[in-house]
Amino acid sequence: MSIPKGFHHSKTAIEKMRLAKIGHAVNVETREKLRLASMGNKNMLGHHPTEVTRKKMSLAKQGPKGPNWKGGINHTHLGYIERLCPNHPNANSLGYVSEHRLVMESHLGRTLLPTEVVHHINGIRDDNRIENLMLFSTRGDHAFHHMKQRGKISQ
Ligand SMILES: [Zn+2]
Repeated sequence: MSIPKGFHHSKTAIEKMRLAKIGHAVNVETREKLRLASMGNKNMLGHHPTEVTRKKMSLAKQGPKGPNWKGGINHTHLGYIERLCPNHPNANSLGYVSEHRLVMESHLGRTLLPTEVVHHINGIRDDNRIENLMLFSTRGDHAFHHMKQRGKISQ
């Protein structure tokens, strides 16, 4: 008689997540709401770009000709290397993609799913040689592999 609630909800959520990732254009109604919201908030008067916007602005200023241009390569605080690939479907909000994922993608000849995890076999997170990389189809599989590795070491 009725559509199962959970099924319907999760489908909508997936679509929302997809749109958020793509950075879908904000529709007119949402823009108007945002405008009204910022007008109502005295702290928002004038230009107060968010942290992300500021970073984007400084990146835009750097560019290939800017003084701080590092060739579009970024070392994250977690020890990973990211490359600037603004046109990549899974780039983050600043246009960067993890290098180990890019290496795996060119090896496989396809884009990785957001659910797939690329593991560093020797544990060195910036050793992105293909022979050091291993693909897991879910975060769970990846976590299980780490558990097994830990078990081996302690035995
Ligand atoms: Zn791992």
